[in-house]
Amino acid sequence: MTPERDATAARCGICAMIERIAAGAFPDAIAELPRSWLILGDAQFYRGYCVILAKRHAREMHTLSRGEAHELLDELIAVAKAIERVTKPLKLNYECLGNQEPHVHWHVFPRYADDRMRLEPVWTRPMDERKRSLPESDRLKLIAAIQAEIRTLMPAARLI
Ligand SMILES: [Zn+2]
Repeated sequence: MTPERDATAARCGICAMIERIAAGAFPDAIAELPRSWLILGDAQFYRGYCVILAKRHAREMHTLSRGEAHELLDELIAVAKAIERVTKPLKLNYECLGNQEPHVHWHVFPRYADDRMRLEPVWTRPMDERKRSLPESDRLKLIAAIQAEIRTLMPAARLI
């Protein structure tokens, strides 16, 4: 890694978050996969919303090696399947943006039939509506249910 890339990673909010997850200091951590970390997202208006963080600091999918990128996509697909099995949504939304944090990460949002804004992108919902925590017992139940599916779909995963 070049010194320039080290400096970028050092300022990266997602790299900092990964350090907390790896240290066991992140309550919404779900699993460690070979190429990524899986966490429950902070916008539980979309119950079951998760984020997959690439383990390695990379700005774009195409800057990962082909093998790394494909393995990451396999993990994304497994996670999406797990979320779908647990939440039974009308539709899943996948987003890989990185405008605010340029470190490859994927948002997976379940969308539900009773959402009056279901035809819109998730981000059009005001932040104070979408950024919602679940009651603690529900949060733990949801994480456990996603972990159970991940265990089946990705035996290489380490549940957290
Ligand atoms: Zn990073």
